Amino acid sequence: MNRNALQATRHLRTVRLLFLSAGILVSAIAMAGIFALLISVREHSLNAVISAGLVIAALAVILLLVTGYYGIRDNLRQIAEVFSRGMASAQRDALTGALDRARFLDELKNRLRIAAEEPLAFVQVDMDRLKQMNDGSGHAAGDCALQHLVATIERTLPDAVVGRLGGDEFGVIISGHDNIQAISRVCRQMLDALSKPTVIAGRHTSLSATAGFAVAPLHASQTDDLMSKADLALYKGKSVGRNAVIAFDEDMHRDERHRRFIERDLRAAIMMEELDLYYQPILMADGHTLKSYEALVRWNHPVRGLISPAEFIPIAESSELIDRLGEWVLKRACVDFADLQAPSISVNVSPVQLRKPDCAQRFAAIIKEAGVTPSTIAVEITENVPLIDAGAEKANIDALRRLGVRIAIDDFGSGNASLSYLRRTSFDILKIDRSYVENVDTNRFDALMIASICRIARAANMSVIAEGIETEAQLHAVTHAGVTALQGFLLGRPQPLSAILADRHAADAA
Ligand code: C2E
Ligand code: CA
Ligand code: CA
Repeated sequence: MNRNALQATRHLRTVRLLFLSAGILVSAIAMAGIFALLISVREHSLNAVISAGLVIAALAVILLLVTGYYGIRDNLRQIAEVFSRGMASAQRDALTGALDRARFLDELKNRLRIAAEEPLAFVQVDMDRLKQMNDGSGHAAGDCALQHLVATIERTLPDAVVGRLGGDEFGVIISGHDNIQAISRVCRQMLDALSKPTVIAGRHTSLSATAGFAVAPLHASQTDDLMSKADLALYKGKSVGRNAVIAFDEDMHRDERHRRFIERDLRAAIMMEELDLYYQPILMADGHTLKSYEALVRWNHPVRGLISPAEFIPIAESSELIDRLGEWVLKRACVDFADLQAPSISVNVSPVQLRKPDCAQRFAAIIKEAGVTPSTIAVEITENVPLIDAGAEKANIDALRRLGVRIAIDDFGSGNASLSYLRRTSFDILKIDRSYVENVDTNRFDALMIASICRIARAANMSVIAEGIETEAQLHAVTHAGVTALQGFLLGRPQPLSAILADRHAADAA
């Protein structure tokens, strides 16, 4: 029972006590009256009449009190219930019925006071891709998804306390347990139940959420500390690909410090021109003719030296930095394009950038200002981070294509949505993931996959680039499979513009 229900029941008890005390008082007067009556009757005094009157009056009051109490008892109970329900609903989230943030935090604080005797787990649950659902299928669908999430938590964890902490974030208190494996298991069961298809906005949809948790008193005994540790675990879960349950681990503190360091320094690096672009050639299938250059960002940190994009891009993606970085890359590539003397240039664009509704518009402005023909630019979008159809990403891709920019699907085959990708969105170029090229000369299945992808691409009028070619055997095998373009260390490593120009100069002189 929550605190308001308890309060209401307490009111009912007070009223009962009042009636009882009044009853006892009046009974005592009645007893005294009877006693006085007996004495006055024995002494034949006149007081007998007065005493008799007193007794009758007292008995009448007792009768009134008893009937009065029973008469209004039900009403009192109803009043208490209405009061308790009213107070409780005022402290619940109107959409999902979960406790609201303030009420949930109270509950967590209270339970943390006795965590030494009764350990607990605080689980932070975050709905995956709610924003895309709101954008793509409307807010009613998003609301419905949140209600389904809370209903699923309550069904699979019936003893837990659920609270809404923010838009798509929920807190869950599981009391009496601090066994990491056991809590991971029950949370996993909850996420599995959530992933069962359900009807949202008239469509069968499979929902997913990510959960991060910390336990008390092992990880923390204060509310803030416990919540920030669960939050770190949640963040980790989101970065490993969502739909995950992650327990807090001390290493995460180190990761967090690292992340903050990268974020702070990257912000400065963009402004102070510490970033650089390297260009890697993409050749036609003949292995000689230059088709394009792919722009690859490099960060030359004054203290830490060269930092790999694989390290800082995911951190930039978790903040607005990715937009600034992406625009810097495009501007710089447009400037260098003339010097590169290539038919076209490719830039990598993060799917996170494409989620901003004005992404294509801003790109169009940059390309126009640089005076570059849009059809000479290809935008590479990794398949690792899924696109949501009908969302802002698709609108941006369509707008870029209308402008004339060509769209390449990068790391094709590495994610888990490759074929559905092709069905939903139109692309111009397929870049087969390096993992297929790596064993193409020894693994029959990989060779077959590449050949089949090439056939599909030809039928759909797309070109196919094999990336990560490091050996002659791989080069031979991918060419045999039918790819239209080649990229890899064997054919050319990424280099700064200055090195490319110096090489060209040397070749011209020779
Ligand atoms: P990616 O788009 O798949 O880029 C190809 C990566 O493979 C590059 O690594 C490149 O140096 C490397 N590579 C090329 N040929 C070979 C090869 O033969 N063997 C091997 N082992 N590797 C090869 P890099 O430059 O470290 O970039 C890593 C990833 O970082 C890129 O993968 C891309 O996803 C991301 N990235 C790089 N620049 C940008 C950028 O400007 N914007 C965004 N959003 N992402 C970027
Ligand atoms: Ca790429
Ligand atoms: Ca790639």
